Amino acid sequence: METLGGIAQEVLECTKCSLSKKRTQPVFGAGSINADLMFIGEAPGAEEDRTGIPFIGRSGKLLDVLLLEELNMDRSMCYISNIVKCRPPENRDPKQEEIDSCRPYLKKQLELIKPKVIITLGNFSTRLLLETKTGITKVRGRIYEYSGSSLIPTFHPAAALRGRKGVLEDMRTDFRKAKEIIYG
Ligand code: SF4
Repeated sequence: METLGGIAQEVLECTKCSLSKKRTQPVFGAGSINADLMFIGEAPGAEEDRTGIPFIGRSGKLLDVLLLEELNMDRSMCYISNIVKCRPPENRDPKQEEIDSCRPYLKKQLELIKPKVIITLGNFSTRLLLETKTGITKVRGRIYEYSGSSLIPTFHPAAALRGRKGVLEDMRTDFRKAKEIIYG
């Protein structure tokens, strides 16, 4: 049976797409295998590429604040990953072929962790898991079923940091929905 550590090792050696060429290291994911809550973002940025830890820049700090304030959790109690494990150069959007190449790793992570709630952060992870082309603004506000987990789409923290009106409050609402499902 596969383990998270085994898959992480595969990712460490992965050259399935061209993102392997310029990465410092892949960013597999971090947190507890027993997590009730899993966050899925888009791709590692510069800090993540340097350290190998997901969501540690400004977006990660906002995620930590929301986790604490809305769910009374710290990140060690959940699991955080991205749909592509290697940093796209200059933080460009991941290409479809890169997303397709990397997708099996995320699928295995989800199968092993089996979180009660998945929160997708932003358009890319939301579109991938919901198999839709519709943007986050239209799909958020509802809870979806994903392989036995409740999927709650919300904005990427970077959108809140850009100061878009209402985004932060919408994210808080979505985090509170996750809390209701996890704690009943
Ligand atoms: S992004 Fe994913 S598929 Fe591409 S090289 Fe990195 S681990 Fe492999």
